[in-house]
Amino acid sequence: MATDVVRIGVLALQGDFDRHAKALARCGVEAVEVRKPEQLADVDGLIMPGGESTTLLKLMHEWGFVGALQQFHAEGRPLFGTCAGLILLARDVENPRQFALGLIDVGVERNAYGRQRESFETQGSVTLDGRATPVEMVFIRAPRIRRVGAGVETLARHGDEPVMARQGSVLVATFHPELTDDPTVHQYFCSMVVRAAARRGAGVPPCEASL
Ligand code: GLN
Repeated sequence: MATDVVRIGVLALQGDFDRHAKALARCGVEAVEVRKPEQLADVDGLIMPGGESTTLLKLMHEWGFVGALQQFHAEGRPLFGTCAGLILLARDVENPRQFALGLIDVGVERNAYGRQRESFETQGSVTLDGRATPVEMVFIRAPRIRRVGAGVETLARHGDEPVMARQGSVLVATFHPELTDDPTVHQYFCSMVVRAAARRGAGVPPCEASL
């Protein structure tokens, strides 16, 4: 995979964006810390990190990111949200109800593991391109995906519940792959970005692209 041909942004308003930048570097991709919406023009994909979703939402509104991210998505550029990033990308959010971008058709409940299991690690498995791969999953005050829309593919489960999912150019995980040394999930996102960039370069409209 020719990862040196793409640049991937990491939304750097709050949260663990530097860990994502390091994870991208391990995949051979140049990471760009995005602090202003204008910078989205320079990147082929964007990671929305974990953190505190209400704080991130406030900053996104203040800095004018909401419309810019919807436009970024409409252009077929991939987005990957982990934990709070997933909460921002979801269609519906509960506990409490709050605004979300609605770019992936899932319903999530914030902080849904209760006090005893607020944060935990477990060995799980993700199914990428039809192949199951073991990965370590780190959950930190994680949300739970309570509803998965018809167009959404579940890529990993913890027990019976989806913990990683994809709809077209949007990938989400309730856990934090950037907190382990395993590059599997970031490599998968990088390959989504490389393919999408190649299609844009070839002039294929996003709605016709089979992602
Ligand atoms: N609990 C946070 C929220 O609801 C998310 C935690 C995380 O990103 N690790 O916003």
